[in-house]
Amino acid sequence: MDCIFCKIVSNEIPSVKAYEDDRVLAFMDINPLNEGHLLIVPKAHAATIYEITEADFLAVMSVTHKLAAAVKKVLNPEGINLMQLNGRAANQVVPHLHVHIVPRWSGDGLTISQWEMVAGNMEKIKAVAEKIQSEMGNAE
Ligand code: 5GP
Ligand code: ZN
Repeated sequence: MDCIFCKIVSNEIPSVKAYEDDRVLAFMDINPLNEGHLLIVPKAHAATIYEITEADFLAVMSVTHKLAAAVKKVLNPEGINLMQLNGRAANQVVPHLHVHIVPRWSGDGLTISQWEMVAGNMEKIKAVAEKIQSEMGNAE
């Protein structure tokens, strides 16, 4: 398959690895937003959260949890952003699911998660919540 992260998993494209097990690979982002910017991917190709199996997603999140602790020890950031983008509208560029770990320091100049707070319409908020609750009740 013509997938850049599958090629990284199979070593066709080199990467700077940080962790590897049966299901998951973690490697350094080639365009780091900050020092220690990591990507955590399932070894089995899955484009987005809709395609990945629950077991692989949990494996990715478990490795993310361990890596966050390792990053904290190694770099002692003041904060960490986790990002996981799905679909072009969400700015996903590489269509092989990945979690970003971005270490943060106050004043680092990054704008991740800086959004303007604008109060929503409570009726609309409740209506969507009810639909989601109903769908969750129907989920297998
Ligand atoms: P996203 O799809 O979440 O927007 O981000 C894709 C990420 O993959 C970017 O941060 C980009 O720097 C990183 N990336 C793209 N190609 C490569 C590559 O060949 N090697 C590595 N290590 N990272 C890559
Ligand atoms: Zn892939």
